[in-house]
Amino acid sequence: MATHKLLLLPGDGIGPEVMKEVEKLIGWFAKRGIGFETETDLVGGAAYDAHKVAISEDAMKLAQAADAVLFGAVGGPKWDGVPYAARPEAGLLRLRKDLGLFANLRPAICYPALADASTLKREVVEGLDILIVRELTGGVYFGEPKELVTLEDGSQRAVDTQLYTTGEIERITRVAFDLAKKRRNKVSSAEKSNVMKTGVLWRQVVSRIHKAEFADVQLEHVLADNAAMQLVKNPKQFDVLVTDNLFGDILSDIAAMLTGSLGMLPSAALGAEDPVTAKRKAMYEPVHGSAPDITGKGLANPLAMIGSFGMALRYSFGLIEEADLLDKAVTNVLASGTRTKDIATAGMNAASTTDMGDAIVKELNALS
Ligand code: NAD
Repeated sequence: MATHKLLLLPGDGIGPEVMKEVEKLIGWFAKRGIGFETETDLVGGAAYDAHKVAISEDAMKLAQAADAVLFGAVGGPKWDGVPYAARPEAGLLRLRKDLGLFANLRPAICYPALADASTLKREVVEGLDILIVRELTGGVYFGEPKELVTLEDGSQRAVDTQLYTTGEIERITRVAFDLAKKRRNKVSSAEKSNVMKTGVLWRQVVSRIHKAEFADVQLEHVLADNAAMQLVKNPKQFDVLVTDNLFGDILSDIAAMLTGSLGMLPSAALGAEDPVTAKRKAMYEPVHGSAPDITGKGLANPLAMIGSFGMALRYSFGLIEEADLLDKAVTNVLASGTRTKDIATAGMNAASTTDMGDAIVKELNALS
């Protein structure tokens, strides 16, 4: 039986609640010959309570050794006062940094059953399936100088530096084209080459990689402000949208909200391909946080976490049929009217976190 090494980091708040539902799926796949060798450890506030750090060195070792990390959520009011270096988010940032996770994948999928939950018209979003590929470790959030200084006249000056190198753009471009080849074969690249030098370089590098390595994939360049407009006006024109860290932060949140609740949104972060094993370090996590307001009440929607596991099947383990099967089960369960409170409409009986996980397992049984 093939085994895949998976590190589970449930974290805080609803993190452990939604991770439990993924564990049901891991059990379901194991019974069908797809084995996962799992380890579980602490991250965020839970790690602080146990070890006074946001992630222990032992947990980092497990993360380095795993084929993929499944991350729940971190944070909550209990840890608001902890030292800055040990704040819950530091665990997440350390994982991203040490695993070299430079490519953030944020799918925006609109399930037909939920099209009416979007603020946009059904015909604009129904059947939407786009993937935003955001550069995660460079750009204006990290460029130096980065400072806030007081001038001689007492006023202040703040500086952030937008900075990209050829290599940083090349590697994210290749991830985007590779993914497009497994989808609808189109990449849209968003930058601001009309006003920014980093945008000029971005456009040049994307064009060069396209011509040399991916000429069979359709490429279009779009200015980032226009991309924002087009995402709201006609989002289905996009397949894979690749962009830098800052624009990606904004565009992926716009795309996410086309589809409804935070409880539905998975994500992945991928690192460089190992030249020997061809495997990438990877971490999969729901977009939502630890939701302290609903923790322990059985109200959390586990589908973002389950969707993140589905992305791990697809992108880390090459289990495409299994990932498709899981997607189908989610689509069918939603179509049958099973909804957690965040996606339920008036008059519906809301399912609990556990009910939703059980419904997915039942549907997987029915489909296989
Ligand atoms: P949040 O995502 O935790 O919650 C925002 C709102 O969405 C809340 O009303 C919550 O109940 C609801 N919600 C979130 N996930 C849901 C789900 N699966 N099902 C149903 N409803 C859901 O964001 P917040 O309230 O701004 O932050 C709470 C804590 O989480 C903070 O400590 C914050 O720092 C942390 N946080 C962590 C991450 C992460 O771990 N990646 C991301 C964002 C926020």
